[in-house]
Amino acid sequence: MASPEIRIDQLTGARVLLTPGRAERPDQFGLSPWQPSGPEGCPFCEGNESATPPEIEADRPDGSAPDGPGWRTRTIPNLFPALIPEFEVETGNESGPEAAFASSADPLLASSRRAEPDLFSSRPAVGHHEVIVNAPRHVVSLAELDPDETAAAMAAWRSRMRAHADAPYVQLILNQGPDSGASIEHTHAQLGATPFVPAAVARERERFNAYRERTAGASLLGEVLREEIRRGDRLVAIDEEVALICPWASRFPFEMRLVPRRPEPSFEEGDSGASMLHRAVAALSSLVEGELQMNLWVKTAPRGVEHFHWHLDFAPRLEPTSSFEMATGVDINVVTPEAAAEKMREAIA
Ligand SMILES: [Zn+2]
Repeated sequence: MASPEIRIDQLTGARVLLTPGRAERPDQFGLSPWQPSGPEGCPFCEGNESATPPEIEADRPDGSAPDGPGWRTRTIPNLFPALIPEFEVETGNESGPEAAFASSADPLLASSRRAEPDLFSSRPAVGHHEVIVNAPRHVVSLAELDPDETAAAMAAWRSRMRAHADAPYVQLILNQGPDSGASIEHTHAQLGATPFVPAAVARERERFNAYRERTAGASLLGEVLREEIRRGDRLVAIDEEVALICPWASRFPFEMRLVPRRPEPSFEEGDSGASMLHRAVAALSSLVEGELQMNLWVKTAPRGVEHFHWHLDFAPRLEPTSSFEMATGVDINVVTPEAAAEKMREAIA
């Protein structure tokens, strides 16, 4: 067994502990296989549109009427939103929602000397929380979508992200399987348009900037990718548009990163990656027992940010989070990205 190793993620600066040896394949972990329960009573299936709130947007190639059948992708408000539109916010917030957050993200750093720091500040969670149903038929895994369906789903994710271009940040995620956080099994993505730039994204942006300044204009992820292609041991596949790698400091076993070959700041402004995502999730699915449970997220440029390099990350959900990870924020990964990439290269078509 190889010795444990500390690696630092180039994009976030976060450390991970790589402790290989306990498991080598995704089917050697402890979570029990996911057995989906089927389409009965599913609110996301075509024909059940009345079971959801009215649609916000839908891809209806034949021009069918809203909230009925005939769509390829369909976007609806989240029934239990984490962020709500401004017009739905209850008024009566006397403290002035902007005050504590306007100049400094941390109220302890507020500049007013007379006022006590507001240790318990809060403001309404203004934003948007949407669900994008990826396909009309009852498919529980991205891996079961064909290439055209995958492309249609990704086009819908991008369209909804562009619709919220005025938000400081737009986070696109997909939870697949109950252990990943999904409450409905029919494949769907979620979008959160947040009134702030999340710290993890801000950190990445700072490091992109710092690297640019130090190297007279080079892209941090562009340079990482060039080196990954040259070295090859974490490279899974590459096509005209994107490369698929297992990140150097992978936080999770079989974590995957899809990166456009030419640096593009915003995921939502382009149209690349669907073909590779389709191949990648199919390969990943072939390595697990039962249906693949997976978390997927996009990192894209915050509003107004020019120098960024989007990437789409995903990882099979194989283990619960441990106390060490909760305490420290440092993930322990028992599969090296080199081993994961090797298995994936064998599995990918
Ligand atoms: Zn369904």
